[in-house]
Amino acid sequence: MARYIGPVCKLCRREGEKLFLKGERCFSPKCAFDKRPYAPGAHGKSVQGGGGKRRGGTGRESDYARQLRAKQKARRVYGVLERQFRRYYGIALRQRGLTGLGLLQTLESRMDNVIYRMGFASSRAQARLLVTHGHFTVNGRRTDVPSMLIGTGDLIAVREGSRDTTFFKELPAFAEARNTPMWVSRDLKNLTGSVLRLPERAEIDANLDEQLIVEYYSR
Ligand code: SF4
Repeated sequence: MARYIGPVCKLCRREGEKLFLKGERCFSPKCAFDKRPYAPGAHGKSVQGGGGKRRGGTGRESDYARQLRAKQKARRVYGVLERQFRRYYGIALRQRGLTGLGLLQTLESRMDNVIYRMGFASSRAQARLLVTHGHFTVNGRRTDVPSMLIGTGDLIAVREGSRDTTFFKELPAFAEARNTPMWVSRDLKNLTGSVLRLPERAEIDANLDEQLIVEYYSR
């Protein structure tokens, strides 16, 4: 279960936009992107519009650069490394329908993302940590694999033994304020939730261009 362990806020600065990777902090004055909205590094300020443009360059971005940035941004939003991301692309390719949408739906089906979407965590990174610490069950079975793909009808619940911890006792009050998309349901009293169906494109709020990602892998 390899994961990125470098500085997270640099990723936002590299992509030239807020990716909301750190939960509540992203909405506070401590947000690194709000303070330094340019690419990281000694020459970051010379990169117009944040990341994605050639350093110090004046020319237009190449198609390849735009495709690469779109792919990198999606990887960073969902916290997935290259090999696994490519695997998800392979899954989407074998499915019927639009490959780009299939890729996003596969990413949204990850257990850490579903828990985040249910409002049980303030970010995907926090959801991932909660899962790896074994605080959740899927259909009654303890699961500590954040990349597990959750299907329609699967029931996620906070594990019995975790419910008495301060975090989960206070969770309903915090989660109440977080909106959930229509494709998941949750029960804050019982700390359970389930996936009702696959998300539609309009319900995936991340600012991603899946067509560019498909073009990147189709080269
Ligand atoms: Fe990005 Fe959040 Fe860090 Fe701001 S605080 S730079 S939005 S991860």
